Amino acid sequence: MTTQTLGTKTVAENYINAVFEQLKQKNSQQSEFLQAVEEIFLSLIPVFEQHPEYIQHNILSRIVEPDRIISFRVTWQDDQNQVQVNRGYRVQFNNVVGPYKGGLRFHPSVNESIMKFLAFEQIFKNALTGLPIGGAKGGSDFNPKGKSNSEIMRFCQAFMTELYRHIGPDVDVPAGDIGVGGREIGYLFGQYKRIRGANEAGVLTGKSPGFGGSLARKEATGYGLVYFVEEMLKDNNETLENKTIVVSGSGNVAIYAIEKLQALGAKVVACSDSNGYVFDPDGIDLKILKEIKEVKSDRIQTYINYRPNASYTEDFHGIWSIPCDIALPCATQNEIDGDAARTLLANGVKVVAEGANMPSNLEAINIFLENGILFGPAKAANAGGVATSALEMAQNSGRNYWTFDQVDGKLHEIMRNIYAESKEAAQKYGTPGNLVVGSNIAGFVKVANGMIAEGVY
Ligand code: NDP
Repeated sequence: MTTQTLGTKTVAENYINAVFEQLKQKNSQQSEFLQAVEEIFLSLIPVFEQHPEYIQHNILSRIVEPDRIISFRVTWQDDQNQVQVNRGYRVQFNNVVGPYKGGLRFHPSVNESIMKFLAFEQIFKNALTGLPIGGAKGGSDFNPKGKSNSEIMRFCQAFMTELYRHIGPDVDVPAGDIGVGGREIGYLFGQYKRIRGANEAGVLTGKSPGFGGSLARKEATGYGLVYFVEEMLKDNNETLENKTIVVSGSGNVAIYAIEKLQALGAKVVACSDSNGYVFDPDGIDLKILKEIKEVKSDRIQTYINYRPNASYTEDFHGIWSIPCDIALPCATQNEIDGDAARTLLANGVKVVAEGANMPSNLEAINIFLENGILFGPAKAANAGGVATSALEMAQNSGRNYWTFDQVDGKLHEIMRNIYAESKEAAQKYGTPGNLVVGSNIAGFVKVANGMIAEGVY
């Protein structure tokens, strides 16, 4: 743990440091997981100082150890009839608040550390939504890029052939994440249904509307992020009108954040994929972006073929050198480091809010907070996706559908509440305005109290 916390050693600090040291020894190779835990632990010192019962119940040692980690072989045949093998995961981290819930990521970078960091974050994010969902995450090192539709289908079927025995509508409810959208959820659900011989719609969320999916789920993470930013601005007597915004990524979260930002009068001038970024001084044309990404599954580079004033730069990280009022990282973890944060700051950024999970490293977060940037951490700012997944579960249980406006209205209210709770917790524990601390504490306290109430196990 960083030395800044070691100056005065209270009982709470000693406890938190001891648990973190032990965790580092046990998980020395898992840098992403340790990074996520450290960020939360740093926020919790004032809570443990006021609540010695959390130390008596040894909550921290218990909460950093997943309930279980399932790792399995996924064997499938490609279009050339070659047998391929990938590794699948499901990390069921904590189900105190409700059934395990969290997305599936298909990306070659997937490993146990990334699965654990995402599942750990998910525990507190899900608790923050106020809905009854626990924390989990899963996925595979399978690379969907360049695969045919048939290969994607066969992979999803092979993946579910093992996963099905570990999940269920009241047990564990996966959803999408990087590389897993409506198409993949459809194939996964089809295979689950065939194996189980029952239509348990609530076993997966992110299904297409029409066969169990919720309207507004596709839009929810991006819209929710923008609703959260609106709340941050409102508290500072500002609106999104005429703000210049940079959004990284061009996947599900980025596209629907851009859609809502434009609807509210902001100007989004750049977006990216893992190869590079486009800058469009006239504002990103959403129709073209959707055509490229959702219809053609093409690279962002092709955007400049449609927009003569736009430029393309082959360097994903360079996007943060574009001057903007608001930066919304919506691609992947650790995309903003200290250098990128300093560049954003020098260029006059006022607000940074995280659509992706852990896109800013600890150095970057500290730079933003120390310089008075309004900073919306992922746990709070991107919780709209999982919250709407929980609304999909509610619709599935009730065997009915809500309208787009009903779901969007509930999403909006949930995001307002998350902002208010995070702000209140930050104030209560002595760091007003620090939404990192506030959201970590607000989520943690709900889970910790649940763990005490449910006894030692
Ligand atoms: P998508 O797969 O739809 O899009 C991901 C985007 O990020 C693509 O533009 C992709 O580019 C880019 N990207 C992925 N990996 C990297 C990388 N290693 N380096 C640079 N760029 C990369 O995913 P989502 O939009 O669903 O997810 C984006 C982020 O939001 C993730 O961190 C996810 O965990 C988080 N999130 C998603 C939620 C959801 O509801 N979907 C909910 C909450 C959080 P390319 O096409 O080149 O790979």
